[in-house]
Amino acid sequence: MDSWLQLQVSPALVAGLDALGYKEPTFVQAQIIPLALAGRDVIVQADTGSGKTAAFAIPLCERLKPDLPLPQALVLTPTRELAVQVQEEIAGIGRFKQIRTLALYGRQPVARQTDRLKQKVQVVVGTPGRILDHILRGNLTVRDIRMLVLDEADRMLDMGFLEQVGAILEQLPAVRQTLLFSATMPESIRELAARFMAEPAWVQVEAERPAAAVIEQGCCLVSAEQKDRLVEDWLCACHPASSLLFCNTREHAAALAATLVQKGYPCAVLHGGMEQRLRLDTLDRFKRGLVPHLVATDVAGRGIHADDVELVISCDVPEEKENYIHRIGRTGRAGKSGRALLLVTPEELPLLERLEAYLGYAIPRLEPPAADAVEAGRALLACDAGAREVREQLVSKLRINGGKQKKIRPGDIVGAITSLEGVAAADIGLIDVQETCAYVEILGGKGQVVLDGLAEKPIKGRLYKVKMV
Ligand code: ADP
Ligand code: MG
Repeated sequence: MDSWLQLQVSPALVAGLDALGYKEPTFVQAQIIPLALAGRDVIVQADTGSGKTAAFAIPLCERLKPDLPLPQALVLTPTRELAVQVQEEIAGIGRFKQIRTLALYGRQPVARQTDRLKQKVQVVVGTPGRILDHILRGNLTVRDIRMLVLDEADRMLDMGFLEQVGAILEQLPAVRQTLLFSATMPESIRELAARFMAEPAWVQVEAERPAAAVIEQGCCLVSAEQKDRLVEDWLCACHPASSLLFCNTREHAAALAATLVQKGYPCAVLHGGMEQRLRLDTLDRFKRGLVPHLVATDVAGRGIHADDVELVISCDVPEEKENYIHRIGRTGRAGKSGRALLLVTPEELPLLERLEAYLGYAIPRLEPPAADAVEAGRALLACDAGAREVREQLVSKLRINGGKQKKIRPGDIVGAITSLEGVAAADIGLIDVQETCAYVEILGGKGQVVLDGLAEKPIKGRLYKVKMV
C-alpha cells in the first residue's frame, strides 16, 4: 500500500485499489500516474495486460472534484463491452470517494441513459457514436469536462471512428487534459493526436518481460476445408481450462461455435451482429468462467480482460495486423503465461508475411498436434464439460415481480437475499433490475432456498412474487 501512497495516490483511492486486490502499482502505472497527476497530456504505448486501465483511472479519480455536479471526465472506447469493463474498474477504484460513473453505448435505450445522466454523474465512459448523440441532444453537458481518455487510442483515431471522435473533440472545452492509451500506436496516429493535445509526453513503456515473450506463439498451415477441424484438434491437444478463438467474420465465428457446441464442447459465441444484452451477458458468463471457451470476432479483441485465458487461437489471419497483437494479448495477462496459435491457409500466406514484417519476428511454424495428444485431450475436455454441466445446473435465475417503478435497486435485492439463513453475497450472481421486474442469478444450488425465503422476506418493505425462470 505504501507504494501507492508514494505515488501520491490518496487514501480513499488506495482503499478502493486494495478492495480490487491491487496491492502495488504495475510498471506502467508507476510510470504514468505521476505524469498524469501533474496534469500532463500523455500518449502511452504499453503491452496488453500491463494495467493501462488503472493507469488512467487512478489520476482521473484523483483529479475529480466530488462536489461538482457535471461530468468532469470522458473516456472513449471502441466497443460497448470495453466501455462497461472500464466503467466498472473506475467505479471500483473510486468507490470510497463516492465517484459516480456511467457507461453509455449504442443499442441500449436512449431514454434510460438520459435519465441516468440527469443524476449527478462525474465520469462518463462510452462508445463515440452514442456519446456524440447524447452531446448533440443536449443530454450530456460537456462544459466541465477536464479530462479526456482515448482507450485503444489508435483504433479510436482510425478511419472507422475518426469522424465521430473529431466531432466530440469539437464540443469539448479546449482546456483539458488528454490521455491516449494502446498496446499499438502507429507513428501516423501519434502525429494526428498531437494536433489536439497540448505538448504530449510520448511514453513507450518497455516491460521487463514483454507480452511477446510471455506468450508462446506458433502458427500452423492448413487448408480452408480442414481449418475448423484443426481448431478442434488444437483445442483438444492443449485442453485449456479457458480459451478464446478469434475469427475474422461473424459468419465464421457463428459456424465454428455451432460446430463445436454440436460436438459437445462448452463454448459460446460473441460478435457484433448479436443483440446487445446477449453480447454483454455472454461476455459476462465467459469472464465468470461459466462458459470456458469463447468464439469471437475482434469485438473481443481489444481491451477485454478475462482471468486465466490459457489459449488464444486466431482461426483466421487478421486483416489488420495490429489486431494480432490485441488478440494474443487476451492471454498472458497480469504476469501470467499463455499460448497463442495462428491458423493459416495458403490463401492467407501474404497476410502472414505482412504480419511478420510488422512484428519484426517470424512466428514459429508448428506441425498439427499428434493424434494421441488430441485423443487424450478430447477425453479430458469431455470430463470438464460433464463437470461443468453439473455446476451450471447449480445456477438458477429468479424473477422478482417488481423493479425500478417500485424504486427497487440492486442493493435492496442483495440486502433481502443475504438476510436469508445460509445465503451469502457470494451466492448472488448477476442482478438486472428492469422497469417492472428484476432478475437475479443464484449460484451454488441455492435457488430454491432463496425462492422460498423471498416468499416471506420483504424487499423495500413489501413482499413480491418471485419465481424461477
Ligand atoms: P491493459 O489495459 O494494459 O491491457 P488492464 O488494465 O485490462 O490491462 O489490466 C490487466 C489485468 O491486470 C486486469 O485483470 C487488472 O485487474 C489487473 N491489474 C491492473 N492493475 C493491477 C495492479 N496494480 N495489481 C494487480 N492487478 C492489476
Ligand atoms: Mg486496456
